[in-house]
Amino acid sequence: MSQVDVLDYCVYRDPNAAVEARIKDLLSRMTLEEKVGQMTMIERRVATHDAIKDLSIGGMMSAAGSGPFGKVKTKSSDWADMVDRFQKSALDSRLGIPLIYGIDAIHGNNSIYGATIFPHNIGLGATRDADLARKIGEATALEVRASGINYTFAPCVAVSRDPRWGRCYESYSEDAGIVRKMTSIVTGLQGQPPPKHPKGYPFVAGRNNVIACAKHFVGDGGTEGGINEGNTILSYEELERIHMAPYLDCISRGVSTIMASYSSWNGRKLHADHFLLTEILKDKLGFKGVVISDWRGLDRLSEPRGSNYRYCISSAINAGIDMVMVPYRYELFVEDLTFLVESGEIQMARIDDAVERILRVKFAASLFEFPFANRSVLDTVGCKLHRDLAREAVRKSLVLLKNGKDPKNPFLPLDRNAKRILVAGTHADDLGYQCGGWTADWKGSSGNIAIGTTILDAIKEAVGNETEVVYEQYPSADTLAHRDFSYAIVAVGEEPYAEILGDNSELVIPFDGADLLSSVAGCIPTLAILVSGRPLVLEPWLLEKTDALIAAWLPGSEGGGIADVVFGDHDFEGRLPVTWFKRVEQLPLHAEMNACDPLFSLGFGLTCNKEKSPN
Ligand code: BGC
Repeated sequence: MSQVDVLDYCVYRDPNAAVEARIKDLLSRMTLEEKVGQMTMIERRVATHDAIKDLSIGGMMSAAGSGPFGKVKTKSSDWADMVDRFQKSALDSRLGIPLIYGIDAIHGNNSIYGATIFPHNIGLGATRDADLARKIGEATALEVRASGINYTFAPCVAVSRDPRWGRCYESYSEDAGIVRKMTSIVTGLQGQPPPKHPKGYPFVAGRNNVIACAKHFVGDGGTEGGINEGNTILSYEELERIHMAPYLDCISRGVSTIMASYSSWNGRKLHADHFLLTEILKDKLGFKGVVISDWRGLDRLSEPRGSNYRYCISSAINAGIDMVMVPYRYELFVEDLTFLVESGEIQMARIDDAVERILRVKFAASLFEFPFANRSVLDTVGCKLHRDLAREAVRKSLVLLKNGKDPKNPFLPLDRNAKRILVAGTHADDLGYQCGGWTADWKGSSGNIAIGTTILDAIKEAVGNETEVVYEQYPSADTLAHRDFSYAIVAVGEEPYAEILGDNSELVIPFDGADLLSSVAGCIPTLAILVSGRPLVLEPWLLEKTDALIAAWLPGSEGGGIADVVFGDHDFEGRLPVTWFKRVEQLPLHAEMNACDPLFSLGFGLTCNKEKSPN
C-alpha cells in the first residue's frame, strides 16, 4: 500500500470514530514487522530517525537522567524539542503511529532541571491525604507534558513490608489500605474518567494529562529479606490481599499501563508468569491496557542475563507482556520476536492482543490528534503554584516522633526570634540529599541538582530579623562550647540511592549521624531531623539525648515545609506509614504481625497541641 492510499480517509485516523473501531482498522493494515515494532520500547541514546521510522518503533524512553544532552542540566523546552524530533520520525513511518515516550517522573518530573520535586512516596503515605496525591499527580502531569513526554513510569504501588528493601521510599506504606488510598495520584496524572467509562479500559483526559503506569506487578515489596528483585513467598490469597489490592484501585481509575516486577512469586519470575499476568491481571481483573516489561526485564529470565534471548522473549510474551523495554539491543529483539512468531512459538493472536492494547492506550491518550509537546504549559514547570503544593506536601508528611524530654514541657514549636541558632548536619544544606534517589540521575547525588530550598535556606527565611543563624556541617568543639546558642537544629540521614544500591541490612544513620547528634545534643538543646527513605536505627541513648525528633523522609525541593511546622505556623499532621523497628534483628516487622514490638507503631505521630494523635 502506498503512502497516498494510507493518507486517504481511514477509520483509524478519524478522531470521531470509536476507539475499538480505530484499533481494528489500524491493526488490519499492519504487517508483522510493524506489529513487532510497536511492541518495542527503546532508549533515546540508541534511537535514530531511520530506526524509529523504518521499524515503526512503538515506544521510547529516557532512562533516569538521560536528557537531550546526556546528564547535563537541561530545561524543559530542550526536552520538548528532543521528544518532538523523535515523534516526527514516528509520524514519518508508513502508518504514522505516534510514540509513547516514557520517563520515571516518580516524585515530580525529577529528571528535568527546574522541575518541582515532590516528597518521595513514603512521605506522601505519611500524609494519608488522597486529595493531595491527586493534586500532585495533576501538577506532575503538566510538568511532564511540557517536556514533550506523554508517559510516566509511576506510581509505584508497592506495599513495602521491609525497610531493608532499597525501594522502601518508593512505597507509600507497609499497609495496603494506605497504598490504595494514595492511588488517587493515578487520577491526577491521567484525569478523572467519566462515570460510564468501561472498567479496565485505559483513560487519559487530554493534553494536560499523561499515561500512568502502576508498578511493579506484583509483590515487589514483599520479598524475603527485603532483597531487591528477590522472591516473595506467599499464598495466592495473601498476595492478593496485600500486594494486589492497590492494582484493583488503579484499574478502576483507568490506569493505562502496568509494569511487571523483576521479582519472583514463590520462585517464578513475574515476567514469565502467565497465571498472574494473563489469567489474573488481564482475565480476572479485566485490565485492558498495556502490560509493560521492566528495563531489560526479559534479559533476567536466563542466566547469564540475556543468554538464550529467544527463550526469554517467548516466555515473557507468552506470559502476557505486551510492550518490552528492551531498551538497547532492539535489532536483536525485533529479529528474534519476528522469528518466534514465524516459527509458531508465539501465536499471531498473542501479538495482535499486545498491539491492540498498545494502540488502545495511544488512542485513549489522543496521541494521534496531539502527538507533540504541549508548549502552552511550559511555564508550569517549577511554578509557584506547584512549589506551594510541594511545600504543603512536605509539611503534611513530617512525623513528630518526640517533643521534649518531658512531655509536659514540649520543645516545639521553636522560637523564631531566638538570639542565636546553630544549624548543623550533613542534610541541613543539601538539596540532592533532600531529594534522594531518582533525582536528576538514577541514584541521585549530593549538591545543587535541583532548584529549591534547603532546610537551612528555609530556617533563614523563617526566623526574625534579629536572629543569627550559624551553620556548620560538622560543628567544631569550639562552636559547641559557645553556650549562647538558644537551640540547635541538626539534620542527618541517608545518602541517595536507587533500587539494589539501597538494599541495606544494617540501617544505621550514615556519616556517623548518631555521633554528630549526640555531640551537639550533649551541649545544646537539639531538634533532630532525620532525612531518610525509611526508618533507621534509633538507639535508646540517642532518643534520650535529643530534645525533639522529626522523621522528614525524602522531602524534595521544598524545604520550606519543614520550617512551617518547626516554628509553629502549622501543626504536625504526618503519621508513620510504616512500623519503626527497635533492632534490625526484628525485621521484617509490620503492624499485622503478632507480637509486633516496635519502637513506634504504624500510625504514630505527635502533634504540638496534644501528646498523641488518634491512629
Ligand atoms: C526500574 C523501574 C523503572 C525502569 C525505567 C527499572 O530499573 O525497576 O521502576 O521504571 O527502570 O527506568
